Amino acid sequence: MKLGRIGYINCYPVYAGLDRAVVRVPADLVTGTPAELNDLLTAGELDVSVISAVEYARHAKDLVLLPDLAISCDGPVRSVALFSKRPVTELDDRTVLLTASSRTSVGLLELLCRDRWHVAPRFAQARAEATDLDALAHLPHEAVLVIGDAALLLAARGVYAHRYDLGAEWKAWTGLPFVFAVWAARRQADQDAVRRVHQGLLASRDWGLAHLDVLAADAERATGVSLAACREYFALQAPRRPDGFLPAARGRGRRAGRLAAIPTRGLTMIDRTSADFRSFLDLYEHASLLELGQLADAARWQLHSENVVTYIIDRNINYTNVCVADCKFCAFYRRPKHAEGYLLSFEEIGRKIEELKALGGVQILMQGGHNPYIPFEWATSSATTRSTSTAFRRRRSISSRAASG
Ligand code: SF4
Repeated sequence: MKLGRIGYINCYPVYAGLDRAVVRVPADLVTGTPAELNDLLTAGELDVSVISAVEYARHAKDLVLLPDLAISCDGPVRSVALFSKRPVTELDDRTVLLTASSRTSVGLLELLCRDRWHVAPRFAQARAEATDLDALAHLPHEAVLVIGDAALLLAARGVYAHRYDLGAEWKAWTGLPFVFAVWAARRQADQDAVRRVHQGLLASRDWGLAHLDVLAADAERATGVSLAACREYFALQAPRRPDGFLPAARGRGRRAGRLAAIPTRGLTMIDRTSADFRSFLDLYEHASLLELGQLADAARWQLHSENVVTYIIDRNINYTNVCVADCKFCAFYRRPKHAEGYLLSFEEIGRKIEELKALGGVQILMQGGHNPYIPFEWATSSATTRSTSTAFRRRRSISSRAASG
């Protein structure tokens, strides 16, 4: 089994126990930059590795996330920064070099430029590891995105007039923590071995967090960054939640997003004449998927502040894909009269209910398009009721929703 590790000091706390053989795992270590490890893991050359959060999202169907490990921040991160010769708001049409070693940080910088600072620089990729910094200085540019040890070293040199810590910028913008990287295993890897590696990484991390002074001394020797700066950097890591993902609690009334507030009285039918309606329309028309996700998460915490999640077996029965709502993100629907449009018969719906029952299911969500050829009575007709109640009479937990949006 092959286990990827980033060579930067930001991974010292996770690998410290392994490096000292305090903890052993059934795997050989492969060291690389984040971008190299991303490619090796997705190419199947590694079985387990730290991987950029954005690359994990892109390849989630091939990967399994390992819980309780992440490279994240809740405010300043220090080791991901934009170094600029001029204020960031003056970078329009200027050259900004992007480290070739990172994916998530590059995506975050592009997002900040576009939606927070409202500038459109010309981006160009460059090598920006610690050993590249002298050569980098001779490349024409106004700003450069640097990560890892190189970012700590460049900050210590103080050669750029402006430094923007991307973790701090994200926090100031959204109020949220940020996850740069996670640990993941290939789904095809031997899962028993993966579990042992995961347990080893957790034990190694626990050892590392208990010995941050030792790690700071190692980091000083490896990078030339001062011991005080290394100590300060590792001290940032100590109070984080081990999973690195979410703050322990979300305060009620917290501002949820830029474009629209969450309905304070919970989710209900929206009065189209109300003042809120315009903000919801703005949200629908302009919000990114990430922002919608953030708002949905905030709504969940507002409505259910208790940290409890329950699971049941249910089935969504997509009774029709014919729809006139034209939601921008939907690949499911077909316009009326389209050759691929369908409407399930009551018999087909009944069959799907039987299949669910056989699996021990306890809930059905009738979910389909806004099909103009189905009157409301279709849903409430005696035939539908007979179909569902016959098949599901002992467990009447049937909900229905007109659309899948
Ligand atoms: S209402 Fe549902 S089915 Fe129709 S377009 Fe929107 S998401 Fe798709």
